[in-house]
Amino acid sequence: MTTTIAAGKVVSARYTLHNTAGQVLESASADEPLIYLHGHENIVPGLERQLAGLEVGQSVKAQVPAAEAYGERAEVEPQRVPRDSFPADMPIEPGFGFAVEGEDGEALPLWIVGVDGDQVVVDVNHPLAGEDLHFDVEILAIRDATAEELAHGHPHGPTGAEGHHH
Ligand code: ZN
Repeated sequence: MTTTIAAGKVVSARYTLHNTAGQVLESASADEPLIYLHGHENIVPGLERQLAGLEVGQSVKAQVPAAEAYGERAEVEPQRVPRDSFPADMPIEPGFGFAVEGEDGEALPLWIVGVDGDQVVVDVNHPLAGEDLHFDVEILAIRDATAEELAHGHPHGPTGAEGHHH
C-alpha cells in the first residue's frame, strides 16, 4: 500500500520558496530537508492543505495566498522598545518572533524588524505577512510519527529517534 501524506505522518521534503517578485526567500535541499509533522500546524496552513495526499517522489508547485500563509499585513506602525526591557538571553535580531501577554492573557505574537542603537523595533506583522508564497516542493520521505512526536506536535529528526533540543 502506498503511503500518502496525512495527519500524523512525518514528511521530509526539498523545497524552494519565492515571493511574487521571484525572490527566493527560503529553501531546503535533499541533504538538509524540511521535516515536519503533518496536521500539527508545523507549516503554513495553505501549504499543508496542498501537500495532503501526495506520495514520495511527487512534486508540486503550491501557490499560497497571504491569508493562508502568514496573514494579511496589519496597518499598524512598528513600535520602538528599549533593548534593556527584553530578557538578556533573547536573541535580538530581525526576524526573531516572540509573544507578549495581552490584556486578557492571550498571547500576542510580535516580530523584531530592526535594531536602532538601544531601541528595538517590533512589529505585529510576521516578516512575510501580506506576501503570497510560491513553493516548489518535492516529497522525499513519509513515515508514521512516533507516539512521542504526536504528543509533542513536532518531528524528532528523520527517523524519530534523533536527540531532543528542548
Ligand atoms: Zn519534542
